Amino acid sequence: LGPTVTVGEILVEIMARTRGEGFLEPIDLTGPYPSGAPAIFIDQCARIGGSAGIVACVGNDDFGRINVERLRRDGADVSAIAVSPDYPTGSAFVRYRGDGSRDFVYNIAKSASGLVSLTREAKTLIGRAGHLHVMGTALSIAEIWTILEYAVEVIRGRGGSISVDPNMRKELLGEGAVGERFARMLDISDLVLPSGEELFTATGTTTEQDALASLFSRGAGEVVVKRGAQGASFFSAAGERADVAAFAVEEVDPTGAGDCFGGAYIACRRLGMPPQTVLDYANAAGARNVTRLGPMEGAGTRAELDRFMADTPRRPA
Ligand code: ATP
Repeated sequence: LGPTVTVGEILVEIMARTRGEGFLEPIDLTGPYPSGAPAIFIDQCARIGGSAGIVACVGNDDFGRINVERLRRDGADVSAIAVSPDYPTGSAFVRYRGDGSRDFVYNIAKSASGLVSLTREAKTLIGRAGHLHVMGTALSIAEIWTILEYAVEVIRGRGGSISVDPNMRKELLGEGAVGERFARMLDISDLVLPSGEELFTATGTTTEQDALASLFSRGAGEVVVKRGAQGASFFSAAGERADVAAFAVEEVDPTGAGDCFGGAYIACRRLGMPPQTVLDYANAAGARNVTRLGPMEGAGTRAELDRFMADTPRRPA
C-alpha cells in the first residue's frame, strides 16, 4: 500500500567511553552517532528491506548530514527531512553509570530536531504511506502532534494501518495534553508495542491479562510486549500468542533496542511474514543492536539478522 512512515526527532548522540557519573571532568567521548528514536526505528525498518520514510528536521550541519546520509545509505526515504537554515541539529551527551542508569546533557530544546513541520515533501510522503508508526517521544511536541493527526487522517483514509510505541516517561502518560494524545493513539492503533512496564503504566492495570484486555477492548488487534533480556511476546485480539526467548548477548549499549525491535517488527509484518517469524526477526534486531556502541550501529539487514540468529545462542526461557 506504500511506505511505513514515522514523524519525529533526529539528533546525534555522543557517548562517554567510560562508565561513571556525569560530565564534571574531561572524559573520552565517542561519536557523533546518528540517533533519535524515530530515526533508529526507520533505519532498522529500511535495512530489513521494507519501504520506509521519516518526516523530520535537521540543521544545516554535519550532525544533520551524518543522519541523513546514514538513513539514505540504508534505504530510507529522506525526501521529507527538512534542513533548517537557522538552528543546529540536536545532540545528546550520554554517560552510563555502573548500575546501567544514564546521565544526559541535552542540546535539543533550541535545535532543529523539534522543528518538524508539514512541508510539501512531508505531505507527499504521507500521501503515499501505507503505515504510520507513532513514537511516544514525539507526542510531547505540539507541532509533531499536528502532523501526526494529519497523517492518521490521510493514512487511515487510504486504508493504511497504525502502530504506537509508548516509549515515553511514565509521568507524562496519564495527564495533560500528552496523556490525551497518548490515549487517542491507543484508541486508534492496530498494533501496540509496549515494554513490560509500559504495558501497565499505559493501561493503569497491574496484571498482564488485564493490560492486554484493556488494549484489545480499545481496538488494538495485536500487542507485542518487549521484555529486554527476557525476550518478547506477541498477543492477538483473536487469542493467538507467540513467545521468544532472548538471545544470549553481551549488552554493550542498550539504547535503541526497542526502536530496532519495532522497526524490524513492522517491516517484517508488512512484508507478510507469519507472527513467529516476525517476532524472531524483531527479537534478533533488538539483541544485535545492544551488542554495538551507538543507538543504531547494530541495526541489521535481513541477511545480517539471519546470520545473527544462526550464530547466537538463546538464553534459557
Ligand atoms: P529502549 O531502551 O530502546 O527504550 P525498550 O524498553 O523499548 O528499549 P527492550 O525491551 O529493552 O525495549 O528491548 C527490545 C527488545 O530487544 C527485547 O524485547 C529483546 O528482544 C531485545 N533485547 C533488548 N535487550 C536485550 C538483551 N540484553 N539481550 C537480548 N535481547 C535484548
